[in-house]
Amino acid sequence: MSDPAVRLTGLRKSFGAVDAVTGVDLDIADGEFFAMLGPSGSGKTTVLRMIAGFETPSAGTVELGGVDVTRLAPFERDVNTVFQDYALFPHMNVADNVEYGLRVKRVPRAERRERALAALASVRLEGMERRRPGQLSGGQRQRVALARALVNRPRVLLLDEPLGALDLKLREEMQVELKSIQREVGITFLFVTHDQEEALTMSDRVAVFDRGRIEQVGTPAEIYERPASTFVAGFVGTSNLISGRAAQAVLGREGTFSVRPEKLRLAGLDETVDGTEHSATGTVAEVVYAGPATRFVVELDAGGRLIALQQNLQVSSMDVMGLRGTRVRLI
Ligand code: ATP
Repeated sequence: MSDPAVRLTGLRKSFGAVDAVTGVDLDIADGEFFAMLGPSGSGKTTVLRMIAGFETPSAGTVELGGVDVTRLAPFERDVNTVFQDYALFPHMNVADNVEYGLRVKRVPRAERRERALAALASVRLEGMERRRPGQLSGGQRQRVALARALVNRPRVLLLDEPLGALDLKLREEMQVELKSIQREVGITFLFVTHDQEEALTMSDRVAVFDRGRIEQVGTPAEIYERPASTFVAGFVGTSNLISGRAAQAVLGREGTFSVRPEKLRLAGLDETVDGTEHSATGTVAEVVYAGPATRFVVELDAGGRLIALQQNLQVSSMDVMGLRGTRVRLI
C-alpha cells in the first residue's frame, strides 16, 4: 500500500485557553476529494492551516506522502492553498498571476508560460490570459486562484471555503466543475466547508467536525444514511429526531432515532397500508411549497413534530397548501 497523501496523528492545537483542535487522527488517500465539514468554530480551518504549515501543532504530527512535515515551513511542503478571497494580485494579468509562484522558484520563462497555459486550460480559462482580475467574474477569479495553485503540481491542494464567495447559482455550477477538474488533474483535494450540501455533492469522503474533533468520517452516503451521532444527524441534512424504545432490531433499547424527511410518506388517516405499526398520526401544522417538493411540519398526537418532504409530482401549490390543519398518518 502506498503512503496516504495526508496522515494526521494525535493532532492538537490550543490558542491560549482555547482548545481549537483536541485530537484529530485522519488518513486521506492519494487522489481523494475530501471535505472537512463542521459548524463555525469547530476547528476545521485550524486543521487545514496546520497541514499547510501556517500554524504549528501543540501536539501530534502531519505527514504528507509518508514524510513528516510537522516542523517544515509552508513552502517546504508539497501542498498549495486556495484561499476564500483568492488573494490574486490586482495589478497583474491572469497569466502573470498564475506564473508568479514559478517565477519565485526561478523556473525558466518558456517552461513557466507553458505550465501556466496548461493550468489555465485545466480550469477552462483559455483566452483570458491578458485580463486583470478586476475584469473577471467571481467564478472566473475562483478558477484563476485554482490554476495558480495547480501550476505548482502539489501533491495536495488545500481549499478554504473555495466557493464561499460565489452566489448560489454559480456555486452549484462550480461544485460540479471543481469535481471534474479534480478528476482530470488527479491531485488530492482537501477542502473546508460549513455547507453540508457542498460537502455531500463534491466529496469522495467527508469528516464531520464538532468542537475540535472528528465526529464521523465516511462517504457522503454513509454520513447521510448512517449518522454516527445525533450531532451528525442534525448537522447533515434535515433530521427528525425521535426519542424512544426500539421495537425491532436492538429490541427494547432506548435511544434517539433519526428519520430523514424524504423517507416519510404522508397518508390519509383511513388509508390502509402495510407497516402501519411504524406509523404515527398527527396534524399538519405548516406547509412550505418549494417547487419540486413540499415540506410538511406535522404535530404528532404522541407529542413532538416531524418534517416530511413530499415530491410534487402531479399536484399544484393550491392542492398542497390546502392540507394545513388536516389530520394525517406518517408512514
Ligand atoms: P469557521 O467555519 O468559522 O472558519 P472553523 O471550524 O474553521 O470555523 P477554526 O477557525 O479552526 O474553526 O477555529 C476553532 C477555534 O479556534 C475557534 O474557537 C476560534 O475562535 C479559535 N481560533 C482560531 N484561530 C485562532 C487564533 N489565531 N487565536 C485564537 N483563537 C483562534
